[in-house]
Amino acid sequence: MNAILEAALNQIKDTSLLLSEDYPDKKRFKKAINELLTPQRVIEGKISVKGRDGKKREFSAFRIQHNDARGPFKGGIRFHRNVSKDEVQALATLMSLKCAVAGIPYGGAKGGVIVDPSKLTKEELKDLSAQYAKFITPYIGPRKDVPAPDVNTDGAIMSWMLEAYERNIGMQAPATFTGKPLELGGSLGRTEATGQGGVYVLDAYLKRNLKYVTSHAVKINTSKITIAIQGFGNVGYYFAKIAKELGFNVVAVSDSSSGIYSSKGLDIGALAKYKEKGGSFGNYPLKSGSKLITNAELLGLPVTVLVPAALENSITKENMEGISAKVVFEMANGPTTSEADSYLHEKGIDVIPDILSNSGGVTVSYFEWVQNLSGYYWTKERVNEELKKTITKAFTDIDKIVKEKRISYRRAANYISIKRIIDAMMLRGRV
Ligand code: NAD
Repeated sequence: MNAILEAALNQIKDTSLLLSEDYPDKKRFKKAINELLTPQRVIEGKISVKGRDGKKREFSAFRIQHNDARGPFKGGIRFHRNVSKDEVQALATLMSLKCAVAGIPYGGAKGGVIVDPSKLTKEELKDLSAQYAKFITPYIGPRKDVPAPDVNTDGAIMSWMLEAYERNIGMQAPATFTGKPLELGGSLGRTEATGQGGVYVLDAYLKRNLKYVTSHAVKINTSKITIAIQGFGNVGYYFAKIAKELGFNVVAVSDSSSGIYSSKGLDIGALAKYKEKGGSFGNYPLKSGSKLITNAELLGLPVTVLVPAALENSITKENMEGISAKVVFEMANGPTTSEADSYLHEKGIDVIPDILSNSGGVTVSYFEWVQNLSGYYWTKERVNEELKKTITKAFTDIDKIVKEKRISYRRAANYISIKRIIDAMMLRGRV
């Protein structure tokens, strides 16, 4: 079993100790936990794609459906050479937890193909996407399983998959995939949803944790709060942009080459323009008052909020003692190892867990599905209003458990999500 699957299953096992007292029927509860440790369905096989040389090439493909007690399966499709069955199972499991935390009516799934897409021509990539959609056609659909983009897949790939799927089933069914371009039924606000949702959670967190609020409970003096963000891709950039617009002082950002720091705050718009032209931060023409720092230095900055928004396993046993932020706000998936997570908790540093703080993406995917099913499309204002409502409630529910049970935000998020799934399984009589 690989480490990421082991970690996902350990989260369920660890949470079961906490949940046990809520379920007097121990036999039934144990059965429910066991169900959550294995996926409901594993779809595994080979798909073949005709190469530019006319020869067929085979790729291993997976779709793993973890649990659908709360609604149709939901989860992205990853094209990467390091995809493995264990990784897909782990990510499918975490999707069940994320959808339950967000309070959206979905279960969890994930898909993947072992392929290096940078080695494929556009035509080969299109064929791979169509063959993958054909491969999973019997198992997906608006009321069964709703895939979305993930690493190395995007709106263009969702469009090719939708076309192949609809041709196979002989009718229009745009609610089968989310993350589509607007022209094919995508939602306004999806591109920035993960960053936007993160800022809504941060706002709710700061309002509830008055020690960081410099004026009074509902009006935060945002300029006093400093933020450092590792990663400046889709998630990091929109988080920085929206936080800055709200008046937060974003003092550091980074890409894989370098970090940039300014105590007075960075010009996020200028940094984004520079990145758009393909520049890397290591060569950024610095303005007075700003300086280059390493990614390691960024992680150790004494800021109010540290936002890992790049990679998994960024905060580890090796660097955890150097973390000086008051709050670690996980926007990447799995940026903190479990050892570092326990250490930070002991030290009194709150870690706001990924399944809550980056759930804005899947929440707006849910809104896309709702719009596709109803055939009526929302304004961006409405999308953001509904996102704020949904994600703020998700935070408030978790915060209540944190205070009631005196546990970390991660344990509280796991507690709520697993409880919601078990309750749904029990109501259905599955266990
Ligand atoms: P992206 O590819 O757009 O951006 C990744 C950023 O990380 C880039 O700026 C890159 O330069 C930087 N980076 C890469 N290696 C780095 C390193 N060693 N040190 C510092 N920075 C490094 O990806 P994204 O969509 O922004 O996703 C970032 C994270 O958020 C991932 O963990 C992803 O799984 C997670 N996430 C994304 C979404 C979404 O909607 N995009 C939703 C939920 C979670």
